[in-house]
Amino acid sequence: MPIAAIGLGSNQGDAVANVQRAIERLREVGKVTAVSRLYRSAPYGVREQPDFINAAVLLDTSLPPRALLQKLQAIEKDLGRRPTYRWGPRVIDADILYYDEARIDEPDLVVPHPGIQQRQFVLAPLADIDSRYADQLRSGYTAESGECTPLMLEERDDLAVRLRRLAKTFDETDLISLRVSDEAGNAIELHRAARGGVEGAQRESPELSDGKRESASVDVIKANLVGIAHLVKPVPAVGAQLEGDRELGYVEALGIRNPVVARGAGRLVSVLVDDGQAVEYGQPLFEIARVP
Ligand code: ADP
Ligand code: MG
Repeated sequence: MPIAAIGLGSNQGDAVANVQRAIERLREVGKVTAVSRLYRSAPYGVREQPDFINAAVLLDTSLPPRALLQKLQAIEKDLGRRPTYRWGPRVIDADILYYDEARIDEPDLVVPHPGIQQRQFVLAPLADIDSRYADQLRSGYTAESGECTPLMLEERDDLAVRLRRLAKTFDETDLISLRVSDEAGNAIELHRAARGGVEGAQRESPELSDGKRESASVDVIKANLVGIAHLVKPVPAVGAQLEGDRELGYVEALGIRNPVVARGAGRLVSVLVDDGQAVEYGQPLFEIARVP
């Protein structure tokens, strides 16, 4: 099936929710195979308006480009978009960034979207889900820093914050599993990893002769939610040196991205999970050797 990249943006009402709703609606149009982080971006063109929330999505779709555009416009309308002026505020904007290798140059449809290269708010989310653009983003773009930055989980919504707190509380109990559901029947389950697996955040080395224990230098980074693991693209190579805090991927649960971050410098020893793999709470995802 053809793969289309869709760029999303909103700066009216609850912009995060609008972008998330649009992503949900895209699932009706095809198979959503990748979702970028959400970004906060300074407005482009007309500056006196609220910041935008931007994201990008990869969509496997059997709809031809023009039908896809119509579908995007229908979604924009359903989500409450009303005509304003060029570059003006909008409840939701959904653009076709590319459609496989298609090249279209018609008055009302230009593909690939001409704004990709110049606009960081298009390029940055796209780079999350398509490594070809990650290279471009690194090599060519010279935006002022702060113009377009990934949204921290805490900024996104209460649910994510509550889930994290729940996972932490669960970790402190002896419970083996915990299921929480809402009235709509959406549920999230936390499971403790099987006993005998890797326990604790750090492995300990055997007792030294003087009786002191020395902390071994391998950290295990584990899933703190039940969900689908996604690796950053490009996936860091085993053996790669990580400088400072580094996001290695995220666990997606109920549509929420829970970033998996390696704190501090170290060397990536192993990647224990595949992109798109379902993971359990506490399942080891990455091993990082710490530099002494
Ligand atoms: P913009 O997205 O440029 O800020 P609009 O969403 O108002 O502005 O779109 C204006 C027009 O751009 C639409 O009516 C649509 O026909 C046209 N258009 C051209 N190419 C594309 C594309 N690749 N994706 C979405 N819209 C496009
Ligand atoms: Mg548009």
